[in-house]
Amino acid sequence: MGTYNEMKIEFSSISENESFARAVVSAFVLKLNPTLEELSDIKTAVSEAVTNAIIHGYEKQQGMVKIAGKIEENTVYLEISDEGEGIEDVEKAMEPLYTSKPELDRSGMGFAFMEAFMDDLQVDSEPGGGTRIRMKKTIYSAINLS
Ligand code: ATP
Ligand code: MG
Repeated sequence: MGTYNEMKIEFSSISENESFARAVVSAFVLKLNPTLEELSDIKTAVSEAVTNAIIHGYEKQQGMVKIAGKIEENTVYLEISDEGEGIEDVEKAMEPLYTSKPELDRSGMGFAFMEAFMDDLQVDSEPGGGTRIRMKKTIYSAINLS
């Protein structure tokens, strides 16, 4: 029997909560004993997904952002979701350098970073139906004594 753990949080879509989300996810994955680099990869990916929910999903009105986390053996699974505006063309949105907000000096690299820093990334979205990001990462430094 390996390690199994699960958590869920929900918070308002205000930018102050980006650091809150990073801190919670860090604390959650710490028991897998990640290297600083692995931890920083996960924090960056979470930041990008949460920032997207806040500035794109809930651009017009504030709402709740959810994070569900799961640890199975030495793999962490994270799901970040919003019930905001959704994305019309997910494939296009995921292209590196694509941004719908060039006027805000966004670089369009959020999804590219999530993809680069995590082992797997899945994006489900529908206009008007919100967005769900699922990603996972295996922590190779994990010492599994169980
Ligand atoms: P950067 O992340 O570099 O600041 P960006 O946020 O525009 O710029 P990505 O994170 O790659 O770039 O996202 C690409 C595009 O996908 C966004 O410009 C936006 O149109 C759309 N998008 C991403 N996440 C969401 C979301 N949660 N809700 C609605 N639209 C989203
Ligand atoms: Mg982004």
